[in-house]
Amino acid sequence: MIKRIQSLHRAKHFPKRHMVLAIAVVMSLAVISLWSPSQQLSAKRQNFSLPLSLPLKPDANLTQSDSAEETFPASTDTESWEEIIVRKGDSLSSIFSRNQLSATELYRFANSGKQAADLKYIKPGDQLGLVRSEDNKLLKLKYHKDIFVTQLWQYQDDQFLFSEQVKEPEIKTTYRESVIEQSLYLSSQRAALSDNITMQLAEIFAWEIDFIQDIRAGDQFSLIYEEKYLDGEKIGEGRVLAARFVNRGNEHMAVLYTDTKGRSSYYNPEGASLKKAFTRYPVDFTRISSRFTLARKHPILHKIRAHHGVDYAAPYGTPVKATSDGKIILAGKKGGYGNTVVIKHRVKYTTLYAHLKHFAKGIRSGKKVKQGQIIGYVGSSGLATGPHLHYEFRVHNNHRDPLKVKLPHALPIAAAEKSRFKQHSNSMLSQLAGYRNSIALNP
Ligand SMILES: [Zn+2]
Repeated sequence: MIKRIQSLHRAKHFPKRHMVLAIAVVMSLAVISLWSPSQQLSAKRQNFSLPLSLPLKPDANLTQSDSAEETFPASTDTESWEEIIVRKGDSLSSIFSRNQLSATELYRFANSGKQAADLKYIKPGDQLGLVRSEDNKLLKLKYHKDIFVTQLWQYQDDQFLFSEQVKEPEIKTTYRESVIEQSLYLSSQRAALSDNITMQLAEIFAWEIDFIQDIRAGDQFSLIYEEKYLDGEKIGEGRVLAARFVNRGNEHMAVLYTDTKGRSSYYNPEGASLKKAFTRYPVDFTRISSRFTLARKHPILHKIRAHHGVDYAAPYGTPVKATSDGKIILAGKKGGYGNTVVIKHRVKYTTLYAHLKHFAKGIRSGKKVKQGQIIGYVGSSGLATGPHLHYEFRVHNNHRDPLKVKLPHALPIAAAEKSRFKQHSNSMLSQLAGYRNSIALNP
């Protein structure tokens, strides 16, 4: 229990992503003490799931393209395949000799190309298939490299021709909904949502809902997400496509939209981004060692000085990440700041990262960086008493408190994408609403 309280307390000062992780930890601790079979029974009455396959037109490539499978010779031929499971200690050579294939056959095959040579890495449990002629000449060999890839060699015109079949998982979409009784985690479990999807849901709304402070009994959510299947078997989940979260009576909606350039992000139905343009924290810190103030005594210079940033104490070498997309306007030494990166974002914002031990690879003036990209590592270069990151946030070149400044939203849907977005968003949200209604009418 002590552990649980600590992580709640610490979470307040943690970067958002960490907060979400902390929630998962807290919730998984909570589940041990609160979960009981009787809750499971009561939950069954309130939670529904409809695994459904939906026609999702606006974003193509959501359905499997199985043209590769049709043209792959192995699946259409009628020869008799001998199936072989690789045993412990097996090599291609021992498999050949056990199957009465001569050393000449092994030599011919193993020297037929790089892929054949790579078969020396086979492991126990791997599956191979053989087709041979009546006089024990190898005609075909196939190797199930993993669940997605099957390799095939066919003997033709005195050589082994290599081909490879790569299966794409089939994407199905699933609807789930739940009402929160104790925690998001418990209600997700009842709705048979995996941790992965629960985390995605929490991250999508992380800027809108405080999942530690604001969740109440009676909050509810519904969502449509992808499930991946291979040969009819579920192998995992994909992305959340649309979600609704009602927190303390306020409805929040999210739709995943992939623009014409292939960039995906979550938006509300009006096309505003659900993300902030900046992350609040540039580093996973242990504590805030100095806050933004207009006057303080400098620890080394012993003069009264304003502190125009926030100091985040963290061990030497902790990665420092750009808080938003932008262009580096300085990556070098800057007096008492030591090794410093300054990034310009959009038109009016700049961020500064000082006292770095060293810069990340490729970080120099003029380079573009992405939000979350590592730009350097925590150090104590310049005037610093110990390892920490000094971080500044400027708007129109005026210093703002990085802990308090109102962060702008990420860019909304571009004007040119508006109608395409609207079409997609309307379709997804009406599907979401349709499922909710059909469950409400037929509980
Ligand atoms: Zn500082």
